Amino acid sequence: MLNNVISRIYIDGEFVTPHGTELFDLHNPATGQVIGQVQLADEVDAEAAVAAAKRALPAWSATSREERIDALRRLHDAVAARLEDIREAVVLEYGGPVRNSFLVDGILGAFAHMIKTLEDFEFTRQVGNAVVEMAPIGVAGLISPWNSDAFFIADKLATALAAGCTAVIKPSEMSATQTQVMTEALHAAGLPKGVFNIVTGRGDVVGTTINRHPDIAKISFTGSTEVGRTIMREASGTLKSLTLELGGKSPSIILDDANLEEAVAGALGVGFVNSGQACTAGTRILVPENQLEDVVALITKKVASDYPVGDPRDPATAVGPMVSQRQWDRVQSYIHRGVEEGARVVVGGPGRPDELPDGYYVRPTVFADVTNDMTIAREEIFGPVLSVITYRDEDHAVEIANDTTYGLHAYVFSGDPARARRIASRLEAGRVSVNGGYEPVSPFGGFKQSGLGREYGSFGLEGFLEPRSVML
Ligand code: NAD
Repeated sequence: MLNNVISRIYIDGEFVTPHGTELFDLHNPATGQVIGQVQLADEVDAEAAVAAAKRALPAWSATSREERIDALRRLHDAVAARLEDIREAVVLEYGGPVRNSFLVDGILGAFAHMIKTLEDFEFTRQVGNAVVEMAPIGVAGLISPWNSDAFFIADKLATALAAGCTAVIKPSEMSATQTQVMTEALHAAGLPKGVFNIVTGRGDVVGTTINRHPDIAKISFTGSTEVGRTIMREASGTLKSLTLELGGKSPSIILDDANLEEAVAGALGVGFVNSGQACTAGTRILVPENQLEDVVALITKKVASDYPVGDPRDPATAVGPMVSQRQWDRVQSYIHRGVEEGARVVVGGPGRPDELPDGYYVRPTVFADVTNDMTIAREEIFGPVLSVITYRDEDHAVEIANDTTYGLHAYVFSGDPARARRIASRLEAGRVSVNGGYEPVSPFGGFKQSGLGREYGSFGLEGFLEPRSVML
């Protein structure tokens, strides 16, 4: 057994040893070495966590806006004090390059934005003769993925607590190191016992307990579409409210009036974000037919100069390793599939980069001559693999963009903001970014099979509230 075994979960304000005994290996993706193990929680632990959250609910749901803001400030400051430890854990356990560890910085933003949202939020509204009270929905189950575990814990917890809900958090079992540091930080904020509980365990064990538990009123889940469907099925027995943030196959539309150099840089940036392991990644680059070869030339040049692959600790590295051997295999299988289906490899291709024989490194890969019916254009790969697809005219671009089962995000690049805005309004996507535009508190979530509901800001907060009409 390794020395580094994480064997603490967090229930009712205390660090406790899990009842579960299964050990799960944690790897350093940059080397492939096992760096530790986590002792996984089981159903008994999940039950104890739900019970603690239920006990804490009456007092927490009765707190005032000011008390919740104060709690969020304390959480923010406690996490800020450990931010570099969290960053270190993300690099070590996930292989996230230090150069773009903006999601780690986003952790503090999650608390800060929710404080701002809470300050302005109307919990009581007048509708005709009725007073509508926005009441906390109850105990929330918060389930997060490995691709940004610490951020999702922060964002979901901040929102649940702001609404007056208590929480049971089920982080990814692959992110136990991040979770450990986050838990210590959150504990240091000194919130009342049981308002949040953190149980790292398997999805089909701890997750299933949450999905089916009659005392859980709401689940906020970020992860794959497949698991999202399972949660929906299992939660239907108790008719839980669901926020599901799922996969994507987002289009980056380069319009013919765009500054091509800037548009290609932008499209590669959103395509290779988080080493391609991002739900929002713009993985289908849509270009006018007559500009294809110009775009390909720019892509070839820019990937070589701007997207070095390597050690995530090296500040020059733009693309780090995949999180696991499984993910490496998955990405490779899609690259092979692209070649088999007749797409043209413009940069990258199968296998490891020559100079990186160890670790879960892949070559950032861009395919051209992709048609939207190819597997690489339809399925979420979750790695640095992009497809360039040509379109005839604006209508055709919109048609291809919307021809997907997903609808999480879209990107439009144009020299004419009004034209880009018109196109944006025709896209079936929860967020459309025009020329790199960004707004952290605007609603985030998907159309179609990218999910249900919205996160962030007031829309996110409403997801944890039930309107109660009091008619006078
Ligand atoms: P995943 O769906 O395999 O796992 C996510 C979480 O769900 C983990 O904590 C896992 O243990 C848990 N889980 C697994 N089975 C469960 C079950 N039956 N019941 C309850 N919980 C269960 O996803 P992943 O591989 O960790 O993350 C990658 C996926 O997440 C990608 O598809 C990506 O698009 C998606 N993602 C979406 C967003 C978004 O906001 N839309 C953000 C990041 C990642």
